[in-house]
Amino acid sequence: MSQRPETKAIRLQTEKTSQKEHSTPLFLTSSFTYESAEDMADAFADDELDVNIYSRFSNPTVDEFINKIAALEGAEDGIATATGMAAIFGTFMTFLSKGDHIISASAVFGSTHTILTKYLPKWGIESSYFDMNKPDSIEGLIKPNTKILYVETPSNPGLDIIDIEVVSKICKQHNILLVVDNCFATPAVQQPIQYGADLVLHSATKFIDGQGRVLGGVVVGRKELIKQLFLFIRNTGPSMSPFNAWVLTKSLETLFVRMDRHADTALKLATSLQSHPQINSVKYPFLETHPQYAIAKKQMSNGGGIVTFELKGGVESGRKFLNALQMLSMTNNLGDSRSIASHPASTTHSKLTEEERNAVGITPGLIRISVGLEHPEDILNDILQALDKS
Ligand SMILES: *Cc1c(COP(=O)(O)O)cnc(C)c1O
Repeated sequence: MSQRPETKAIRLQTEKTSQKEHSTPLFLTSSFTYESAEDMADAFADDELDVNIYSRFSNPTVDEFINKIAALEGAEDGIATATGMAAIFGTFMTFLSKGDHIISASAVFGSTHTILTKYLPKWGIESSYFDMNKPDSIEGLIKPNTKILYVETPSNPGLDIIDIEVVSKICKQHNILLVVDNCFATPAVQQPIQYGADLVLHSATKFIDGQGRVLGGVVVGRKELIKQLFLFIRNTGPSMSPFNAWVLTKSLETLFVRMDRHADTALKLATSLQSHPQINSVKYPFLETHPQYAIAKKQMSNGGGIVTFELKGGVESGRKFLNALQMLSMTNNLGDSRSIASHPASTTHSKLTEEERNAVGITPGLIRISVGLEHPEDILNDILQALDKS
């Protein structure tokens, strides 16, 4: 009987022990043993690694997390990493060589931008950038040595959205791998492979954990691609710890209900803030005023859990707003059951020039809310009273 994704997120279990436990077991072991010297020799001789040897290579708890995410994303296979950045860096290192070229959206996660601009050039890999609002400019950037097109949709913190199907067609024509960071949407909301993405990756630290406890990353895609990533990740070492995998596989059991609630509250909040006198504009993928509303409706099942708004008073108002909050947390994480407010211009993106900030949609008064699972009225009321004081 085929199961729907909501059910697989709960029921897909890789390993049961002889104890007949109901919940997922946690295999905290660095290595595994063999029945005989011959079995041990076979395990090492066979590169397909169906046998657990050492937890840097594979571990049953980590496998359960990978299998679930791969099933939810509609992917053949996957690999888990210690953090989201390890997933991104591992992907670049596996599929790019000296002399290659990567095209990336200009609005990507800060550390991803740092890898592209600061580290890849050290190994002779060049990059070009395009504006998420101008996907037509991509084709003009393609060169004979272009190997990867990299996008985040929705992007952090700009919430820009790109049509995955359109860019995947361009990639297929030019034999380029399309890599999508699906962290803001999660597979409960958007499955980029369905629209032609080759590799989908996540910071599992965010909505996948959902409660701000552990770091993790994952990449999913076709078997032949994951095999190459597997060899790189397992030999260089940024593997996911079994404990974190256990936390994350339990988190997946509640992913769909959490994302539904995050999105319901986020849409309510975005709608109520739209007409507030102190706010210039509100951005949320499922608000009709979002520039890529039609694309969001096509490829996402809801608008996700992040809302941004622009305060009329600029940087000063942004600081006052954060200081006036009574319940919302001031932290730079996102995707938590606790609502979080951040002010990118004075924190995560303060080292950029104003021009650079504007280029990625970070205006002086931009506030990013990661909408939590508290009562929607309590979240709204805290924001309203803080707006009064900003
Ligand atoms: C947080 C984040 C990352 C990095 O993930 P870590 O788990 O912190 O290494 C990458 N992409 C996006 C969109 C993120 O929000």
